[in-house]
Amino acid sequence: MTDLRSLPSVEQLLQTSRAADLVAAFGRPLTVDAVRTALDRARAAASGGIPLPGRDGLLDLAADLLATWTHPTLVGVINASGVILHTNLGRAPLSPATIAAMEAASRGYSNLEFDLVSGKRGSRLIHAETILQRLTGAEAAVVVNNNAAAVLLVLSALAARKRVVIARSQLVEIGGGFRIPDVMKQSGAKLVEVGTTNKVRLRDYEEALAETAGLVMRAHRSNFQIIGFTEEPGIEAVTAAAHQAGVPFVDDLGSGTLLDTARYGMAHEWTVQESLSAGADVVTFSGDKLLGGPQAGIIVGRADLLARVKKHPLARAVRADKIRLAGLSATLLHYLKAEAEGEVPIWRMIAAKPEELKRRAGTWVKELGQGEVVPGESTVGGGSLPGETLPTFTLALEVRSPDKFLAALRKLDTPVIARTENDRVLLDPRTVLPEQEKTLLAGLRKALRERTGW
Ligand SMILES: *Cc1c(COP(=O)(O)O)cnc(C)c1O
Repeated sequence: MTDLRSLPSVEQLLQTSRAADLVAAFGRPLTVDAVRTALDRARAAASGGIPLPGRDGLLDLAADLLATWTHPTLVGVINASGVILHTNLGRAPLSPATIAAMEAASRGYSNLEFDLVSGKRGSRLIHAETILQRLTGAEAAVVVNNNAAAVLLVLSALAARKRVVIARSQLVEIGGGFRIPDVMKQSGAKLVEVGTTNKVRLRDYEEALAETAGLVMRAHRSNFQIIGFTEEPGIEAVTAAAHQAGVPFVDDLGSGTLLDTARYGMAHEWTVQESLSAGADVVTFSGDKLLGGPQAGIIVGRADLLARVKKHPLARAVRADKIRLAGLSATLLHYLKAEAEGEVPIWRMIAAKPEELKRRAGTWVKELGQGEVVPGESTVGGGSLPGETLPTFTLALEVRSPDKFLAALRKLDTPVIARTENDRVLLDPRTVLPEQEKTLLAGLRKALRERTGW
């Protein structure tokens, strides 16, 4: 029998000690809401012939609702995919010094825009600028929210209503719908494509520059390669042509590295310093790709051009906040002290030796009592070094349905992101932070124990 009159009232439920605990944990208004929703659902279920729950059942339901409503949507995961700068997983994990600086900046007040010598208003732009000048040799620097904002701001400030010359092979889509031609349109610049999909010659630039232009731009191809019958003039030559025509050369490096990637067995990625010494007037790059810091867009280059960038109204709309500036400065300091390879997590991952990765994967096999160590490949990701891989050793697990197992790993309290290859589930130690190993193994044990359908 489902006699609705036997249901307790909201007030009656709230007077229980269980409800008092929920009020203490979640606050009164939300708990009242949950109790009401639980009663509504019970009534609705009863009309479908489902027996009414007792008080405990109703309070269980209310507690479940409260847990769901207050569970954060953004949670930490373990990246065992072997993709170091995984954009979907939040790109670069930060160094302890960077985290400490961000925490300190968020806890209290700071001299963000306050000159401690004069006691007057200061500029937030100075905070990372001095270190960036020293590191890159640039005259000036500006930090904004991300590199997409940096590109939009630079184009808006330097090339609105002017022609911007760029090679057709560089009109890239980075991901997440960020397309260079669209950004140009948004900035008010007029796109002038030169060359063909696979080839561009110096002459193409020179011909386009015969007419008045705003600037010449280069965009890093980031996520694809052009191979085969290709040609592109060196950046020195293009810069010289731009200067001959009296316009600046802007280099969007995308990832932007300060260290030489060739030292780690990968292709040489053009560095920020190289771009500037080749004559680029403005260089833009990300804070959270190969730099390994917090999300940021960094603009370095000529002081006169950056003065225009700083003054543009968009600069205010995309300005960096104090937490980002504090974190970025701390990450940059690792480079200044020549300790980036040891301190910046993504460089530690890039520099990890195959023997060490083999040992870690071997320990996982031993701890789990199953699986085997197989050689594999890690990638850098994050729109840098497309096609480049780093040799690694992974833990390979044989399961009946790899996709279902991956889904089970994603459902763990601390979700684990792995990948499949040849019907095996692979977990790459390169991207797993050492302090996460215990949690990873506990999660794997749980998933393997609760084997359901895979
Ligand atoms: C990644 C990338 C961007 C966008 O940078 P975000 O920091 O993600 O906003 C712009 N240009 C290039 C060439 C890139 O690779």
